[in-house]
Amino acid sequence: MTSPQRAKVLIAGSGPAGLTAAVYSARAQLAPVVIEGEPSSTSDQPGGQLMLTTEVENYPGFPDGVLGPELMMSMRAQAERFGATLVTAKVSRVELKESPFAVWVGDPEAPEPTYEAEALIVATGAQSLMLGVPGEDRLLAHGVSTCATCDGFFFRGQEIAVAGGGDSAMEEALFLTRFATKVTVVHRRDRLRASRIMQERAMANPTIEFRWNSRVTEVLGDTKVSALSLVDTVTGATSELGATGLFVAIGHRPNTDLVAGQLDLDENGYIVTRDGSRTNIDGVFACGDVQDHYYRQAVTAAGSGCMAAIDAERWLEARGS
Ligand code: NAP
Repeated sequence: MTSPQRAKVLIAGSGPAGLTAAVYSARAQLAPVVIEGEPSSTSDQPGGQLMLTTEVENYPGFPDGVLGPELMMSMRAQAERFGATLVTAKVSRVELKESPFAVWVGDPEAPEPTYEAEALIVATGAQSLMLGVPGEDRLLAHGVSTCATCDGFFFRGQEIAVAGGGDSAMEEALFLTRFATKVTVVHRRDRLRASRIMQERAMANPTIEFRWNSRVTEVLGDTKVSALSLVDTVTGATSELGATGLFVAIGHRPNTDLVAGQLDLDENGYIVTRDGSRTNIDGVFACGDVQDHYYRQAVTAAGSGCMAAIDAERWLEARGS
């Protein structure tokens, strides 16, 4: 039986939030350990959601844009340069009663935790819910996107579609009208779930059309999206919709299974933070998309990672660690 390794700061997750927290806490001489996720997993891949995108044009400092994976590799190298230890594995279990926190990596049933962390930063992110239809995965970042703010610009002058009927779908559709000549919202019912104000805005926009009672059954295209196969959910009739892009906006799911029942979560399952990045447990901090369903940008995640590192550093200092 191996005894747990001690970490002053342990960071779960390695998207922009986790890696920025790592850079800051490494530079504060706290030798953070980052459990970065596993490449085989779609929800916990090292580097987070940016590993699933191509060009990132809105991250400050890159006037010519940067590839998502390249940006994350740079952040990773930066964290390592200052002494962060990156472990390619998943956190499988945590016990958060009080510091030091018990953290299991690998077998969650192991009698001893893998780490004992004085401060814990949860940066496990969120994942976009996907339709799960043929072609969607293959054409992700080749016309299929989950972020209009990130990718809308690439669809200037084109006809595209948005799947979903909630506030996210309306927000994405409205934003996309800045670029696209036509945005078709494909919704599985004849009524939107979105708030009234968002519905009204979307319906008043002449660039947005609605395909009611419709589901996307396949994303078509060889190397890029060229059309969508649809089925009418009432009649069963099938049709094809010409579109060079599909924005999937059917909701997000925060990766909070690990901490559910221990950290306070809001009604959508996101970690509740207060006073910066503090959670309901002293010494546990949260940053990035796991606690933010509103901004969800790489730069805001990175900013909140910085906040979590500073909060953890000050918390450790105050208790004399
Ligand atoms: P949501 O409210 O859960 O809506 C998801 C939409 O996607 C629903 O219309 C749902 O259809 C549809 N959908 C779900 N699974 C589907 C599937 N497998 N195939 C096809 N369609 C599917 O999610 P959200 O829009 O991301 O919003 C989440 C929360 O954030 C909400 O509380 C929302 O108000 C909030 N939000 C607010 C704003 C804002 O105020 N500006 C912006 C974004 C999000 P059904 O309607 O048939 O269930």
